[in-house]
Amino acid sequence: MHDHTGEPCLDNFQRPLHDLRISVTDRCNLRCMYCMPGEVFGRDFVFLRHAELLSFEEIVRVARQCVALGVRKIRLSGGEPMLRHGIERLVEMLAGLHDDDGKPIELAMTSNGTLLAKKARALKDAGLMRLNISLDALDESIFRRMTGGGSAPEIVLEGIAAAQSVGLTPVKVNAVIKRGVNESEILPLVRRFRHTGVIMRFIEYMDVGNTNGWRLDDVVTAREILALIDREHPLAPIAPSTEGEGVAERWALRDGSGEIGVITSVTQAFCHTCNRLRLSTDGKLYTCLFATEGVDLRALLRDPSGDDATLRQRIAAAWRCRTDRYSQLRHEMTETLPGRIEMSYIGG
Ligand code: SAM
Ligand code: SF4
Ligand code: SF4
Repeated sequence: MHDHTGEPCLDNFQRPLHDLRISVTDRCNLRCMYCMPGEVFGRDFVFLRHAELLSFEEIVRVARQCVALGVRKIRLSGGEPMLRHGIERLVEMLAGLHDDDGKPIELAMTSNGTLLAKKARALKDAGLMRLNISLDALDESIFRRMTGGGSAPEIVLEGIAAAQSVGLTPVKVNAVIKRGVNESEILPLVRRFRHTGVIMRFIEYMDVGNTNGWRLDDVVTAREILALIDREHPLAPIAPSTEGEGVAERWALRDGSGEIGVITSVTQAFCHTCNRLRLSTDGKLYTCLFATEGVDLRALLRDPSGDDATLRQRIAAAWRCRTDRYSQLRHEMTETLPGRIEMSYIGG
């Protein structure tokens, strides 16, 4: 929890740096309407060129300095992280990171699961510990509508089964619920994953990026979701787990058949405990999902005279001056802020 000065790395609201989310690619094989809508991310969209991406060695250099500053959990995201060529090698390199007591850093990934059936074994062997899979619908046509085509729910389900069989457990499945599109899938998803050990979590649709045309009316609130589930499967609260920005409210199905969660990103801000730093695909640090500007590390990483001490100072400085609490302030805002970055670029 300490940097070289012996002090914990705290931001302006005394929040410690604890989680690092790394976007390994800005590309994706799906076009989810709430994240990379096909109308915007079409054939003409210009993605980052390979030379603009941080190399695995550069990513690990940043991660190592973040660990020195207190990071204890690293999550790989994107875009679709499994599209990054050789991702298992990056997992293996990051799995070598330890804290001061020799304890390995928790290493997780968020994926759409479409390539998982093929990759689960290699990722597990490389040292991946946990996996969150996004699956918004079991119904084929609703899935297609949500994700822009490009895959099918059966393929993701095969991936989830593969993850379970290699021991990447407990698998968490995340569904973003958008009103008028997939709220009819909430109960089928709960039913599908009862008795399987999979933790099904529902995420409130967020106003992230500029491209998804977010409206408050599109949000199905966690309260609505819980009420719906509770009518069919009575729920009991479970003590919260603290995950920083990703704090999920946990609920047990009273009949003992499983656990579900809701992520109240819109209706209940968890900025006061947010301890997450994000590294974009091209090497910028963002201290909030809703930040408009990042701190570039790539130039320093590629400068032959740029040393690790300077890198660590740059990261610590970015965290220490952090004042982000966008979700807390959101309700006071009357209009969408311009110029926000996209989730696919920064890593949801
Ligand atoms: N492609 C991977 C996936 O879909 O899991 C990883 C990247 S994706 C950006 C990470 C997570 O962000 C996914 O669970 C996705 O559903 C979520 N997400 C993206 N846009 C969102 C939005 N507008 N509101 C809520 N969650 C969103
Ligand atoms: Fe791709 Fe994930 Fe965004 Fe869907 S949510 S478009 S799968 S990056
Ligand atoms: Fe953290 Fe920003 Fe989300 Fe608040 S809005 S929880 S500060 S990422």
